[in-house]
Amino acid sequence: MSERFTGSFTQQEPIPEAGIAAALAVLQHGRLHRYNTVPGEVAEAALLEEEFAALTGAKYCLAVASGGYAMACALRAVGVVAGDAVLSNGFTLAPVPGAIASVGARPVFVEITERLVLDFADLERKAADSGARVLLLSHMRGHICDMGALMRLCDRMGLLVIEDCAHTMGGAWEGVASGRHGRIACYSMQTYKHVNSGEGGFLISDDAEVMARAVLLSGSYMLYAKHSAAPPPEAFAAVRMVVPNISGRMDNLRAAILRPQLKLLVERVARWEARYRALEAGLAAVQGLRLIERPDQERFVGSSFQFLLPGWSKARVGLFLSRCIGRGVELKWFGADQPVAFTSRYDHWGYADRQSLPQTDRILAGLVDMRVPLTFSFEDCALIARIIRAEALAVGQGEEPEDVAVVAVQ
Ligand SMILES: *Cc1c(COP(=O)(O)O)cnc(C)c1O
Repeated sequence: MSERFTGSFTQQEPIPEAGIAAALAVLQHGRLHRYNTVPGEVAEAALLEEEFAALTGAKYCLAVASGGYAMACALRAVGVVAGDAVLSNGFTLAPVPGAIASVGARPVFVEITERLVLDFADLERKAADSGARVLLLSHMRGHICDMGALMRLCDRMGLLVIEDCAHTMGGAWEGVASGRHGRIACYSMQTYKHVNSGEGGFLISDDAEVMARAVLLSGSYMLYAKHSAAPPPEAFAAVRMVVPNISGRMDNLRAAILRPQLKLLVERVARWEARYRALEAGLAAVQGLRLIERPDQERFVGSSFQFLLPGWSKARVGLFLSRCIGRGVELKWFGADQPVAFTSRYDHWGYADRQSLPQTDRILAGLVDMRVPLTFSFEDCALIARIIRAEALAVGQGEEPEDVAVVAVQ
């Protein structure tokens, strides 16, 4: 009988005891709103910001309601207005073009390479053609492009970079934390990311003017002095009466849950890498299946795993996925015609102008994606790899199948 995986691809670890205790303390005193403090008290939300600024080395940090909110707030804070073109990756997740659309701007998608990162030649072309002055760079699924080369190109073209670090919190390029290359970086603390408060987001930056605007945008009223990781009050003088209040604050309950998790981030990154390497080893040299290159300069967070089935027909990929799902291995596919659960593609986002990205289409047609929760053991990773390997070999070398309907994965 063939082996079957019976674990869950969507089960997180529990919130650490220290987070539960801190959350209970907040519930007991009842001051959940970040500006509701007693004399001398620094709110959990402000402490969280101080700690994340220290962790990344950023001068300023703002915690907000979600990663999507952080990106929209960043776009507004750098002055993107309705009708502006904003560049982003052709391979990313819906909240990225959604953030661009939320400010009335137009997403312009850039081709990706087989390493699943931005194609710089296409970026240069699209920047010139669109007149965009902002790149919302998505480190999608934790793959980091050559940040030195990218920043040189963007500086030369006058492009301001906002980094979407939803999948790179804890990652780095050439020893510099992911999120410390562009003008602003945005993170998500949604359950499936690297620290978990259900929902939540961060913005970090060294730019006082931009961050003063972001704090006001987030809904600080005239209480911005309570942000201990924000620029000094002088930075607010010129903008405090003109920046609209678009509430999207972090609260003390979620901040309390998050603070102890920041301390675990380095350890979590190491645990993810070990799981990623176990999957990679189990899938090495499988005919018809290509692993994604991970350069030495990249410290990645292996919270998800991707591979390519280059040149496979849709029916063949469909059959492969259904056979894996039948054995308990939940894979997601970026080549499906229809969006499924969390997985969608640039040509599904009807609020963006129609665009043609033939290189990205070819890559996504064979791109398979998998969550790697920390609740997986090494044995789980080895078993999952054995199942994928066996099915890739069987289906890849079998006869061309009839069309196969792919079962939806959450
Ligand atoms: C999760 C995610 C975000 C932010 O999502 P929220 O659910 O709004 O926190 C942004 N970009 C990518 C690539 C994501 O996966």
